[in-house]
Amino acid sequence: MIICDLHCDTISKLARQGGELISNSAHFDISRALNAGVRLQFFALYYPPTDNNTALREILKQIVYYNTQIALWPDLVFPILTKQDGQNIGARIQLASILHLEGADCIGTDIAILECLYLLGIRSIGLTWNHRNLLADGVGEGQHAAGLSRSGKKVVIKMAQLGILLDLSHLGEPGFQEAIEYYKGPVLVTHANARALCNHPRNLNDSQLEMIRDCSGVIGINQVADFVKADGKPTFDDVLNHIVYIAEKIGIEHVALGSDFDGADNIVLPGIETYDQWEDALIARNFTATEIDMILGKNALRVINQILT
Ligand SMILES: [Zn+2]
Repeated sequence: MIICDLHCDTISKLARQGGELISNSAHFDISRALNAGVRLQFFALYYPPTDNNTALREILKQIVYYNTQIALWPDLVFPILTKQDGQNIGARIQLASILHLEGADCIGTDIAILECLYLLGIRSIGLTWNHRNLLADGVGEGQHAAGLSRSGKKVVIKMAQLGILLDLSHLGEPGFQEAIEYYKGPVLVTHANARALCNHPRNLNDSQLEMIRDCSGVIGINQVADFVKADGKPTFDDVLNHIVYIAEKIGIEHVALGSDFDGADNIVLPGIETYDQWEDALIARNFTATEIDMILGKNALRVINQILT
């Protein structure tokens, strides 16, 4: 079985606070991930909303931090850059890593910067965090959120050509639909849940879930307490309820995991070391072995191997 997780903020946290990716007291480190059976992790780069030039400088520094850290342990971690790399995920006891940009403020409107980021190893991008930038409006813009800008559409089309995964977490509803139209391939929502079970703007309503189904995408189930249960005090069972709901609504082939470790303080499972609990928890909810393989890894791998070039 291959366990994949589509979102953690550990790189930007450690780049800011100091610490080592191999072992630390944050939610995620490579040692604990490997022990728990995790074989693929998406690492987000994030910097709070600011001007494009500052964003670019800060993201470049985080890319350096990421590359320095994974280069220390070549036997334990390897970056996913090509379709060929994707096919090696899980072949050995090694963690595959995908470098993700959470909020593309640093691109501004300059497609050449997108190509630079690709050369630097970024293989997954979300256009914006919760705010409006030059590419798109995030969910934080609420009812007034618009869709993609002209530049945003160009970026999405170029991402599809380059083979960069498109993450629609954090995007406002109009942009969500437009991004799928322009990308023309399966998208990821790396870390979100079902709004029918927890009415939070970061969660997806049923029509958004259907759009994920229609483009053969996947949604990574998020464990931030506020996204799991409205009272902010969920149990692990409440996380499983989102999996059951989404699987019944749009099909098991669209469900994956996206913890959001190190992206918030209040997360249901205390850290990546607990990921060996997933299998038994899903068995207890009557999923078959084949279905569990799909949820824990195969669904995500299907999209990754389809998009990467
Ligand atoms: Zn996020």
